[in-house]
Amino acid sequence: MGGSEQKYVNDAFETNWIAPLGPHVDGFEQAIETYLENDVYAAVLSSGTASIHMALQLLGVGKGDEVLCQSFTFSASANPIVYQGAHPVFIDSEKDTWNMSPELLEIAINDRIQKYKKPKAIIAVHLYGMPYKANEINAIAKKYEIPVIEDSAEALGSTYFGQKCGSLSDIGILSFNGNKIITTSGGGALIVKQPELKQRAVFLSTQARDEAAHYEHSSIGYNYRMSNVLAGIGRGQMEVLDERVHARRANYLFYKSNLSSFDSVHFLNEPEGFYANRWLTCVTFDTTEQREAVRLALLEEDIESRPLWKPMHMQPVFKEADSYTNGISEHLFNHGLCLPSGSNLTEHDLNRVLQIISNTLSL
Ligand SMILES: *Cc1c(COP(=O)(O)O)cnc(C)c1O
Repeated sequence: MGGSEQKYVNDAFETNWIAPLGPHVDGFEQAIETYLENDVYAAVLSSGTASIHMALQLLGVGKGDEVLCQSFTFSASANPIVYQGAHPVFIDSEKDTWNMSPELLEIAINDRIQKYKKPKAIIAVHLYGMPYKANEINAIAKKYEIPVIEDSAEALGSTYFGQKCGSLSDIGILSFNGNKIITTSGGGALIVKQPELKQRAVFLSTQARDEAAHYEHSSIGYNYRMSNVLAGIGRGQMEVLDERVHARRANYLFYKSNLSSFDSVHFLNEPEGFYANRWLTCVTFDTTEQREAVRLALLEEDIESRPLWKPMHMQPVFKEADSYTNGISEHLFNHGLCLPSGSNLTEHDLNRVLQIISNTLSL
């Protein structure tokens, strides 16, 4: 926590606003809108997953529809497609950003149109805080008139040619889960460009009550709105977001500059115009054996590290799903490691990690 979260939470208690609405909900949304710029409207919800679910609802994704989704991601990007009775079709990554390959996206769209029908939406992800190639992805989406959901759960604070991630495509989503760059313990936000869409999302997220004195319903609703208490934490966290981004980027620079002498360790550089929040510092090794040696050596010292996300097209739960692959995400999964990346790591912590990695690679 940054410091002022407690003040906002106390205020919620003192004013008895303990509900999924209230001044902090409005204030947090305003803070997000101001931060993202681009005339966006934010609706804060109970999680990033709920926000993706609402995005699919707003786009009318339903039973039997197909949604093209980045394969190299966390399962929460894809699960809401299944909640809607729709089918995910997975798209592999490209080398420059580790995100959705624009080339494969277009191949997949043409193939789906020929074999079945036009996909109803595209879910692209700024994984680990590295922006995807939004100009290329948006241009393809526009050509085929398919809306893009921008999964920015890991990328709050990243920018793409000066524009904030979360505001780059048709509908954005953010996450404030405990592991993200800022947190409300659990929470998320839906980012839209039209006020009517925000209104609709809030309506659906608060049980879809029609205008009436009694409880009248003509749509199926959800209980997805963020609590005023948690929104208070969010307001405090927005005040330290930039500090958090600087701390994460400093971690990345530390590892990169101190491991540059090892030819077997590779970092993901920012292409021109890309600014990553470096939510996690990720590296790849020449071999899986090196990756495992480093991971196990860290574990031996009670330091957690983890392989990169296992692509969705390799997950047992999605074994029936179609996919368009090129081997890149599979390679990343087999060779990559997320290093300790918290914004509260001390210089001592970082040096400890560095020593263990260096010693292992020098063996
Ligand atoms: C964390 C995350 C989500 C889900 O957000 P929650 O708030 O945890 O539901 C979605 N997509 C990606 C890429 C994530 O990392």
